Amino acid sequence: MNYNLIVGCGFSGATLANLIASKLNEKVIIVDKKNHIAGNCYDYRDKNGIMIHKYGSHIFHTNNEKVWKFVRQFGDFNQYMHKVIAVIDGIETTIPFNFNTLYDVFPHTLARKLEEKLLEKFEYNKKVPILEFQKQDDKDLKFLANYVYEKVFLHYTAKQWGVNPDEVDGAVTARVPVYLSRDNRYFQDKYQGIPLEGYTKLVENMLNHPNIEVRLNTDYKDVKENFDRLFYTGAIDEYFNYKLGQLPYRSVKFKLIEYNREFYQNNSVVNYPCNYDFTRIHEYKYYLNDKSEKTVIAKEYSEFFEPGKNERYYPIPKDENTKLYNKYLEESKKLENVYFLGRLGDYKYYDMDKAILRAIELFEEIKERK
Ligand code: FAD
Ligand code: UDP
Repeated sequence: MNYNLIVGCGFSGATLANLIASKLNEKVIIVDKKNHIAGNCYDYRDKNGIMIHKYGSHIFHTNNEKVWKFVRQFGDFNQYMHKVIAVIDGIETTIPFNFNTLYDVFPHTLARKLEEKLLEKFEYNKKVPILEFQKQDDKDLKFLANYVYEKVFLHYTAKQWGVNPDEVDGAVTARVPVYLSRDNRYFQDKYQGIPLEGYTKLVENMLNHPNIEVRLNTDYKDVKENFDRLFYTGAIDEYFNYKLGQLPYRSVKFKLIEYNREFYQNNSVVNYPCNYDFTRIHEYKYYLNDKSEKTVIAKEYSEFFEPGKNERYYPIPKDENTKLYNKYLEESKKLENVYFLGRLGDYKYYDMDKAILRAIELFEEIKERK
């Protein structure tokens, strides 16, 4: 019988713990230095009965059948389809920038002219990353591209990442492309929703197995037992005591405010690309349609990660960081039966479904080796 230690009770660790315990019938100890499970997806009901996403809004979305089938064993989801509103020049409109946005922010005749030019150049429904969209020859489309770059991406990205859009990996801004469509949803994935009982309950159900022991408030460094395999979903540079240098991360701060009124804004997330120091405001009661005379919002402020001061939230996808990560990856290959995964272990900007898929694939790999 193998004994497995998993570091981190987020989706990556919990997925692996569940698969090892249930499919291989092996013992798993899973630890987290936090006082709760579910990692950054942790949610809880506050005194008003509103489900708060402690680390910011989490919307589950995937096209992957395997992942969808896996998560639904542990809880049902509602049919919430996420939409994001942005305030641009004082106008509330849709993000990603699409044909509806075009008509919201420009006079009708100008919007119509731009729409026609866009449809001459691009296929309907195409998603064009802003850095590609900027490469326009036509004078009117150039004007539009500059407008979208300035009003949607430039200042938001500066707030979120501390740099201009062209200084982070193109994949980051490509997550929110210019969308030549009238589809106002943030994601087009086949499956989307929020777990009816919350993410924490979903992860609790994943960990609820006689072969799994959960230890909270426990740092990896404090685990004394020996194990046959170690799965590490914490930061890979920290594991190696930063011997090759520190991988940079962005952190986020959420300022929670309760109001004595039913709603604060008319959508779950409102982005403020050009105004204020925060990037967006979350209003949590929308996700599960929570009924309360009060409401709770969170203003999201981004900052650099500094050890001891705040938490790691986002790896920063950028060539020099990937190079450093690759050096750590090479180090990790020298270790036997030690595996890294997750947003921090792989230093990858995974959404929940990608973190789960990575854990499922790693499980399939180790199962073969057994
Ligand atoms: P984590 O959830 O970070 O879990 C890692 C765990 O390891 C943590 O609990 C940490 O405490 C623990 N740990 C680290 N080091 C140690 C140690 N030394 N000892 C013990 N424990 C340790 N994804 C979506 O699909 N949809 C969304 O809408 C979405 N919104 C997001 C919004 C924000 C603001 C952020 C930051 C992320 C969002 N994500 C979203 C991404 C999602 O949070 C991640 O995909 C997911 O949390 C990854 O899970 P993980 O287990 O890899 O990492
Ligand atoms: N972005 C932007 N303006 C917006 C929304 C997004 O500039 O109104 C850019 C920004 O660089 C952001 C990236 O697109 O970090 C990805 O946005 P997403 O909403 O996917 O970020 P997450 O929810 O992961 O923080």
